Amino acid sequence: RLGFVRGFARGPLIEGVKDIIAVASGKGGVGKSTTAVNLAVALAKTCQLKVGLLDADIYGPSIPTMMKLSGKPEVSEDMKMIPIENHGVKCMSIGFLVEKDAPIVWRGPMVMSALQKMTGGVAWGNLDILVVDMPPGTGDAQLTISQKLQLSGALIVSTPQDIALIDARRGANMFRKVEVPILGVIENMSCFKCPHCGEPSYIFGSGGARRTADEMDMEFLGEIPLEIGIRTSSDEGIPIVLSEPDTSVSKAYNDVAKKV
Ligand code: ADP
Repeated sequence: RLGFVRGFARGPLIEGVKDIIAVASGKGGVGKSTTAVNLAVALAKTCQLKVGLLDADIYGPSIPTMMKLSGKPEVSEDMKMIPIENHGVKCMSIGFLVEKDAPIVWRGPMVMSALQKMTGGVAWGNLDILVVDMPPGTGDAQLTISQKLQLSGALIVSTPQDIALIDARRGANMFRKVEVPILGVIENMSCFKCPHCGEPSYIFGSGGARRTADEMDMEFLGEIPLEIGIRTSSDEGIPIVLSEPDTSVSKAYNDVAKKV
C-alpha cells in the first residue's frame, strides 16, 4: 500500500528513511501509543522490515515505558543522537532527554525545536519505515510534523465512542487538508470479553469506528479489544505482539502491519 501511496507523495524528508507514517488519534488516551508500539514491533518482527519509532508526543512520552527503554542516547561523530533499540525497533523519545518525573512545561517554539532535533538530528540509518506516535490533537505540532516530515500516510486510532470519533474525524480532516494519505482507521477498545463467562460488553459503544471510516471513505483496518493483557504488557515494556504472539489480539496487530 505504501508503495502505491509513494507515487503520490513527495517522499519522506529524512535521509535513508523510505517511508514515514503517523499514528494519530485526535483524542488522547484512546490507545494511540499502544497501537504505534505494537504496529512498529509487528512491522519489524512479522514483516521483517527495518523499523524506527519516533515518540512525538512531547508532553506525554510513553514509548520509553512501552518499549522498556531508558538512558540517554549517545551522540554520533556527526553530532546526531543515536536511537536506542529494543524489540528490533530503533526508538527516539523526548522521554530519553528529560528527567523521568520532570514536567515538560514548554511553549510552542521549544516543542518545535525538540521535534526538529528528534527527526533531523537523529542517526536513524537506513529504515524501511519510521512510525511516528503523534501528539493528540490537531495543533501546530501535528501540522508541522505532517508537512515537514512529508508523511507517506497516517493511521487513525479511535475508540468506538462518539466523543473520540469526533476528534478522530478532525484528525482525519487535518491530514486531508495537508494532503497526507490516510491509510485507514483502527478501532481500539472495541469490546471487553468477560474473562469468567466470555460475555462481550461494548463499553465504549459498538462499531463506531467502522461507521466513521465508511462515512469518510477511509479503510477500516481492524479492531482491538479492551483487554488486561494489552495494558499489562505495555506497562511491562513488552508489547503484546511479543509477549503473547499467538493470541487473536496479536493477529489483529499483525494484520494491520501487513495491510500497511
Ligand atoms: P494514547 O497514546 O492515545 O494516549 P495509550 O496508548 O497511552 O493512549 O493508552 C492509554 C492507556 O490505555 C494505557 O494505560 C494503555 O495501556 C491502555 N490501553 C490502550 N489500549 C488498550 C486496550 N486495547 N486494552 C487495554 N488497555 C489498553
